[in-house]
Amino acid sequence: MNNVDIEAIVKQVIAGMQGAPSAAPAAASKADAGIPATARVAMLTELGKFELKEYPMPVVGDDDILVKVEGCGVCGTDAHEFKRDPFGLIPVALGHEGTGEIVKMGKNVKKDSAGKDLKIGDKVVTCMIFKDNPDITMFDLNKQNVGGADVYGLLPDDDIHLNGWFADYILVRGGSTVFNVSDLDLDSRILIEPCAVLIHAVERAKTTGILRFNSRVAVQGCGPIGLICIAILRTMGIENIVAVDGEQARLDFALQLGATATVNFKNYKGVEALSDAVKAAFGGYYADFAFQCTGSPVAHANIYKFIRNGGGLCELGFFINGGDATINPHFDICSKEITTVGSWVYTLRDYATTFDFLKRAKGIGLPIEKLITHKFALEDINNALETNLKMEGLKIAIINK
Ligand SMILES: [Zn+2]
Repeated sequence: MNNVDIEAIVKQVIAGMQGAPSAAPAAASKADAGIPATARVAMLTELGKFELKEYPMPVVGDDDILVKVEGCGVCGTDAHEFKRDPFGLIPVALGHEGTGEIVKMGKNVKKDSAGKDLKIGDKVVTCMIFKDNPDITMFDLNKQNVGGADVYGLLPDDDIHLNGWFADYILVRGGSTVFNVSDLDLDSRILIEPCAVLIHAVERAKTTGILRFNSRVAVQGCGPIGLICIAILRTMGIENIVAVDGEQARLDFALQLGATATVNFKNYKGVEALSDAVKAAFGGYYADFAFQCTGSPVAHANIYKFIRNGGGLCELGFFINGGDATINPHFDICSKEITTVGSWVYTLRDYATTFDFLKRAKGIGLPIEKLITHKFALEDINNALETNLKMEGLKIAIINK
């Protein structure tokens, strides 16, 4: 039994004691009008199979928030868990890129993790539960990445069950990180989590001192990560961006999101021809800075050839171990004086920066919502995951009616 279980049980007992003098059960009070007695949760019960399970609506403790889910993005992590259960979590309620509306909250809940007021009807997202370092939820961080964090949608199942965003409702426990994002539309809210990954990567890139407004920037890989990278660079005022990918449709979309030129690597044989093409796309120059957004070791090895002497590289494509890459330390790093940074996930501060990025991107006309190419109902979640595994489209989302 973990801490979450114990806390939940204690809360239920206390709630039961408080309810004792009055005959009416808590669920029947006026404030709960419209909240059903049960909620559906898409539970991954075996490899490759979600089952829609119906659970009683949990008691909302004094520090908890009950959220009616509006939608949730399907992440590569969900697909890994669906196919192989690498985290050993089955049975598990998945979905961490979700958002919805507060329908009930405990009396102690007043503000979100950024200090913004919270009330019933507000739209929220969760970020992390920092179980090892609660101070980090106080929004003063700048200090560390997500070590020691748990995420809704990747929690072990417990007696409450409403632990992931692929559901009708989620119970956000006291102490969780939650943000009021009522000023963002549903599509933007679903894109917050993947966008935060790129906000963090660009912050990491800026630590090299090489990324400037007038930089020539190569972005390799035009999946959602690379495409969002391009949109962020453009939104921050960088205008000379070359996108590299093997799929023409993705390269065309990269142009809509702010790339100035594209290179389809399938049109070139060998890394020399490819790096020549990147150089030509920059008008005869190599990149000042490059973002590596694929999970391919060959792509990692190639990208050094696109970068000028004294340039920089941010590697963020290897969210999981994709194997070893072979580079030449003399030619690729040492003699070129390349500054490299790695980037992984995000901090809470990056999360809040992301909300403003999404507004600015829309403000300059980038069609960021087009990243969501497929929308499925909760009952079609198995289809949604199969579609993700087939690598069709870009971002796939579950949208509750
Ligand atoms: Zn994700």
